[in-house]
Amino acid sequence: MNKDFDIIIVGGGLAGASLAIALGDSGLRIAVVEAAPFGAPAGFDGRTVALNYGSRRIFAALGLWERIVSLGACPIERIHISDRGRFGFTRLEAASMGVEALGYVVEIGVLGQALQQALRGLANVRLIAPARLQQLTITGESATVTLDAESGAGPLTARLVVGADGTRSAVRAAADIADETTDYRQTAIVANVTPERPHGFTAYERFTSSGPLALLPKIENRMAVVWSARSQDADGLMALSDAEFLRGLQARFGNRLGRLTQLGKRQAHPLALTEAAEHVRPRLALVGNAAHTVHPVAGQGFNLGLRDVAALAEILVDSARAGDDIGTLSVLNEFAAWRQNDDRAVMRFTNGLVRIFSNDFTPLALARGLGLTLVDLAPPLKRALLRRTMGLSGRLPRLARGLTI
Ligand SMILES: Cc1cc2nc3c(=O)[nH]c(=O)nc-3n(C[C@H](O)[C@H](O)[C@H](O)COP(=O)(O)OP(=O)(O)OC[C@H]3O[C@@H](n4cnc5c(N)ncnc54)[C@H](O)[C@@H]3O)c2cc1C
Repeated sequence: MNKDFDIIIVGGGLAGASLAIALGDSGLRIAVVEAAPFGAPAGFDGRTVALNYGSRRIFAALGLWERIVSLGACPIERIHISDRGRFGFTRLEAASMGVEALGYVVEIGVLGQALQQALRGLANVRLIAPARLQQLTITGESATVTLDAESGAGPLTARLVVGADGTRSAVRAAADIADETTDYRQTAIVANVTPERPHGFTAYERFTSSGPLALLPKIENRMAVVWSARSQDADGLMALSDAEFLRGLQARFGNRLGRLTQLGKRQAHPLALTEAAEHVRPRLALVGNAAHTVHPVAGQGFNLGLRDVAALAEILVDSARAGDDIGTLSVLNEFAAWRQNDDRAVMRFTNGLVRIFSNDFTPLALARGLGLTLVDLAPPLKRALLRRTMGLSGRLPRLARGLTI
């Protein structure tokens, strides 16, 4: 078995699998090392993600969008943002941006299925799973990755290792790259419900003093609930009976869609903001949650990670075509510099929303009500907000403009 590659991607979750597919026609020899068995849901845990319009374009350019839609994607035609018990609200409409949808709600399992089907068809990609990174050694010319003994694979070498192995990245730790983590002291409880009335393809984001509550439209008139509660209340919410939980949810959300029923299985995700101090080193790059993990408040996390993937794939393909060594710092610095503004903007935006809205201090509550009303009344502000949340701000990779690499 050949053990030398151009690129080893550690982590075959949403970001890692997308990167391997984006590099599918590049001629580069790629290994994807994934801790979970392939075919089993790897990093895919029954949750949903809201893919923004920019991510739809990337998946369309990769030839995956039709497959994702056929497996199940629900369009978001408008987003209703409000502050529970206060006067301000704003509505964001797809029609005002001339698009059919602001985003799409897709189950992570569905996305995983589409990605894994595509991965299997790629001649230049080797899947190594289940296998865990144990050690990473970087020398001038190459990187060596040692995997756990159970994987049966000996050490692998490559010109570049990409860490796509999530928030607690083993690649980041092995390279001794520090991270800065801020605990939000909030836990997202996710579950699916069915509203009595049709959801009308509207996503609801309600800010409450204990954290934001989102209800996202799914196919077959289901809705995905993301209830960010204070962490000290999360165990209690998880322990409630279904009927009690639904009563609490209804009290928070209100009666806009009639009675909420048919609660699915609940899952709890503690929330923190994590950023790696460096996103590249010689022979090393981090993408997705391994580089940055944000609060799910505006559904930005994977969308941001997918833009990393699209930018990195473009730079690597261009460098390889130019005959450059893809693992050198000069090539990788170009990627880090390109992504810095977008990364920071999304972190500031999501962090700001959590800080400003998870607060009952009266002047702040009045100011945010005013802020929401202002956004509602000022079309340029609204368009700027929409372009950011749709993933269409700043310098976009070719894939995010609907072009091939
Ligand atoms: C409640 C909640 C709601 C969210 N909603 C949205 C949303 O609406 N929109 C959005 O864009 N984002 C959303 N996100 C964020 C999104 O889920 C993440 O950004 C995304 O899943 C990160 O993907 P990733 O591939 O970078 O990391 P992961 O999904 O964590 O994948 C990492 C992969 O690496 C593998 N791995 C780990 N360690 C090793 C190792 N040592 N060796 C080999 N493999 C390893 C794992 O098995 C896994 O498959 C939400 C997050 C939460 C918590």
